[in-house]
Amino acid sequence: MVGTRYLEEACRAIGIVGQRGTGFRAAGHREAQFANKFTQSAFSICRALIRVGPLLVSAALNIFSEPTAWIDTHAHLDAAELAGARGAVLAQAREAGVRCVVIPAVEPGNFRAVRELARASGHVYALGVHPMYVDRVVESDFEVVRMAVREAMNDPQFVAIGEIGLDFFVPGLDRERQLWWYDQQLRLAREFALPVLLHVRKSQDTLLAGLRRQGWSQFASGGIAHAFNGSRQQADGFIGLGFKLGFGGAMTFPRALNIRRLASELPETNLVLETDAPDIPPEWLARSQPPQPNTPAQLPRIAQTLAALRGWTAEHAARITTANARAALPRLAAWLDAQPT
Ligand SMILES: [Zn+2]
Repeated sequence: MVGTRYLEEACRAIGIVGQRGTGFRAAGHREAQFANKFTQSAFSICRALIRVGPLLVSAALNIFSEPTAWIDTHAHLDAAELAGARGAVLAQAREAGVRCVVIPAVEPGNFRAVRELARASGHVYALGVHPMYVDRVVESDFEVVRMAVREAMNDPQFVAIGEIGLDFFVPGLDRERQLWWYDQQLRLAREFALPVLLHVRKSQDTLLAGLRRQGWSQFASGGIAHAFNGSRQQADGFIGLGFKLGFGGAMTFPRALNIRRLASELPETNLVLETDAPDIPPEWLARSQPPQPNTPAQLPRIAQTLAALRGWTAEHAARITTANARAALPRLAAWLDAQPT
């Protein structure tokens, strides 16, 4: 046995045994007996270790490596692009190890759809008016939103106010209306101590000013700045107010230098993953012909980019981003903890 030979050689090296097959060279008989017993014990220990070693290693692996599970913190699973394929989309996400998906609403008209989709699939949802949908609501609809949120507080699958925010990129959107809805919904989040899911497009500083105006601080409920793209200073502004930043398909494009730099440099405790399905396709889907909608099942592959940028294993990426999503969305953590494993 290889192990036995090494042990003999080790003993020889420290002078307990002589050359192979020639017996002990100890000066007296008693010393030789002692050395012989010592060697036998050492052989037994060695044999036992060889036998139980693999068992110990596999037990240690079971303790320290939970199965890789991902959280997609932003996916519009109710979107028309996924109609007809929703069952397959959900099944593929499960097979890919996506444990939970956050489904944000965009207007009161889809509150019911996101709630029912979450209930049917075991995922979670948020309620809010998206900045690109403010022309479809009037100010009196705010009370509708407020009542829906108040009722949803009894629903363990309701986790945040969202998707809200500001979009100064898409032409033709009413800026004043966006600002009014943003402020009102931040107030709503404060009222119910809920985190917010923020849409951030060419609006980072105005969003930050709105949060500060509302007295948002790192002690408030925070949230997620989704699909974040901005300067390091702006990123630090959100982080200082208790936010996590969402990274997804955009990070997979080698030319997305700013997003990739942020993903590699920001504190690891502030990163969460998202797909924004069916939008923001990763590089490999953007090139596909015919174009395919993005889905939560892409998340583990998108995460490979984050892992590569940071020198992480996939397991570490899953563990840290899952912990961050749970910290950003405490009701999501409570929902997951209540589920049978
Ligand atoms: Zn969105």
